[in-house]
Amino acid sequence: MIDIHVPEINFVIQAVRQASQLAAKIQSELVTSNIVKEDRSPVTVADFASQAIVAHRLNQTFPNDALVAEEDATALRQPQAQEVLDRVVQYIRQIEASATPQGICQWIDYGKGNPKKRYWTLDPIDGTKGFIRGDQYAIALALIVDNQVQIGGLGCPKLNQQAQVDHNGSGSIFIAVRNQGAWSIPIENPTHFERLEVSQITDPSQARLLRSFESGHTNVAQIDQFIQKFGLKHPPISMDSQAKYAVLAAGKADLLMRLLTPAQPNYREKIWDQAAGSIILEEAGGRISDINGKPLRFEYDRCLIHNQGILASNGHLHPRALQTLQAIAAVPQ
Ligand code: AMP
Ligand code: MG
Repeated sequence: MIDIHVPEINFVIQAVRQASQLAAKIQSELVTSNIVKEDRSPVTVADFASQAIVAHRLNQTFPNDALVAEEDATALRQPQAQEVLDRVVQYIRQIEASATPQGICQWIDYGKGNPKKRYWTLDPIDGTKGFIRGDQYAIALALIVDNQVQIGGLGCPKLNQQAQVDHNGSGSIFIAVRNQGAWSIPIENPTHFERLEVSQITDPSQARLLRSFESGHTNVAQIDQFIQKFGLKHPPISMDSQAKYAVLAAGKADLLMRLLTPAQPNYREKIWDQAAGSIILEEAGGRISDINGKPLRFEYDRCLIHNQGILASNGHLHPRALQTLQAIAAVPQ
C-alpha cells in the first residue's frame, strides 16, 4: 500500500479529487462555453477552475515547488472573456468563498513555472474535447524529481474503480508512486484502495487497442495498417484523455498508441499529457516508450523533445508492437 500520510501523496489525492468533483459538476451543468486559445483548442470554464484550485492548493502546501501546467490566465484577462471568468469565479467561490477574479487569475498563473530539479505538472482537463462532448476526460497531476516521474494521479470522473466507462457514478482516482504500485480509489470513498495490474494477454489477435477519439491527435490510416498487420480482431477503442492509461493499467485493454499525425509530423508530446499516465501504467506492470522503443525523457522541458509518439502496452505485447510499427513505417527515419 502507498502511505497516504506522505504529504505529496496526500496532496495528489486531495487536489485531484477536488478538481474532479468541480469538473464533474461543471460538466453536468453543461457549462461548456469556451473561448478560443491561440491554437484554437477550446478552453472551458472547467480548465481554468480546475487549474486554479490545484495551483492554489499546491501553493499553500508546497510554496517552493514549481508548477508546469497547460493553461495560463492571459486569455481569461481579456474583456471578451468576462463571461467565462465570471463563471470560473462562481464555481471557485463554492470552495473558496473569498476568492477574487484577480486572485483566481494569479492562481492559474502559478502554472507558468519551468521544469527544474523538482516540479509538478498538471493538465487541469485532459481531453477537453471529450469533456465538451460529455465523454471521457481526466485531471492529470504528477510530481517529477530529477527527470523522473515519482507520483502520478489521474482523476477520471467517468471511470469506475475497475476503469470501466461509467457515466452515472462519481468516478475514480488512479494513483501511482514510484516502486509502490498503482492503485484506484473511488472519488466518493477515498480510503478504499484497489491495486491495478495490467492484463496478461500475449496473443496479438486477442489484444484490445486504445486510440484517441480525435483523429487529429493520431494517424488513423497507420492505426488501421497496424491492426491488419498485428492481426487484431477487436476494433480499436476510441477514448479521450489519459483515462486510456487507467484502462490499460487496470487490464481492460492491452495496447495504446499515439502515432504522428500527417498534419503535424513534428508534434512532440506535452509532459502533462504523459507524466501521470505513464507512471500509473508502469507501476501496474506495463511498459511505455515512444514509437521507436525509446524510454520517455522528462527532461527540463514542457515537451518530450527526445521522443516521437507513444507506444504503451501490458509489456508482453511491446516488442512485437514495436516491430509492427517499424514494418508499417510509422516510425520516421
Ligand atoms: P487524446 O485525448 O488522446 O486525443 O489526447 C489529448 C491531447 O492530445 C491533448 O491534451 C493535446 O495536448 C494533445 N494533442 C494536440 N494536438 C496533437 C497532435 N497533433 N498529436 C498528438 N497529440 C496532440
Ligand atoms: Mg491534455
